[in-house]
Amino acid sequence: MSTETSSPDRRVAVVTGASSGIGAATARTLAAQGFHVVIGARRTDRLESLAAEIGATARPLDVTDDASVAAFCDGLDSVDVLVNNAGGAKGLAPVAEADLDDWRWMYETNVLGTLRLTRALLPALEASGDGLVVTITSIAALEAYDNGAGYTSAKHAQGVLHRTLRYELLGKPIRLTEIAPGMVETEFSLVRFDGDKEKADAVYDGLTPLTADDVAEVIGFVASRPPHVDLDLIVLKPRDQASARRNIKTG
Ligand code: NAP
Repeated sequence: MSTETSSPDRRVAVVTGASSGIGAATARTLAAQGFHVVIGARRTDRLESLAAEIGATARPLDVTDDASVAAFCDGLDSVDVLVNNAGGAKGLAPVAEADLDDWRWMYETNVLGTLRLTRALLPALEASGDGLVVTITSIAALEAYDNGAGYTSAKHAQGVLHRTLRYELLGKPIRLTEIAPGMVETEFSLVRFDGDKEKADAVYDGLTPLTADDVAEVIGFVASRPPHVDLDLIVLKPRDQASARRNIKTG
């Protein structure tokens, strides 16, 4: 595992959940913009090959584990950009049939994971003189949908955690941007449906979803604004999707 973070002249960007999807695409985009990127996730084999491809620093990270977060953040004394991306959904069930382990996974990963990383890196973000926290929530952080309460409530909580920092950090050199995507074709649905590829593919059949690169490009734009500009909340959806409940398939 490459653990060096030395890059005296380059701005540092930390991306969580960079082993696939939006996180991997964001790491590529920020590296291409000249950032020294520090990437974390649990699947370290994938991190290693991405790190070799883009010249990043790969470190193992489980955002649900205090000790793993502490080891990941060790030595990161100045951080310009933190992308809180690690997260996802487990299951799609009505509240009456809610699986508590699925709910715990979603809260631990999306909400407490974002809290752990942000809390640990706030001093380093401030020390950079122009820190930026980008949190990937979802349109599920803005609306509810049938059978989605575990995910929508976790994403709402993650969103409110992030938005609270806009108040608490006012006057400090730290910007905060919430990115709320609609449907993006990644491993998201594969994880939600516990590896059932047929079910996951069906989510995107019959419409054109966003790609991870579509989202990464927006994050690259956010990270390249001047220090006084704070893009507060960016909602991006495919043309084929009007809301979490309506798309061209549902009518
Ligand atoms: P993805 O391809 O499944 O990627 C999820 C990433 O999160 C993976 O790199 C995974 O890495 C990481 N992760 C999961 N649990 C983790 C943990 N405990 N510790 C560290 N990393 C962890 O899905 P994605 O669509 O790119 O999701 C990225 C973010 O976008 C998530 O927060 C998701 O909720 C949000 N989002 C997705 C969509 C969509 O439609 N795809 C829409 C709106 C928002 P490891 O498994 O290797 O740890």
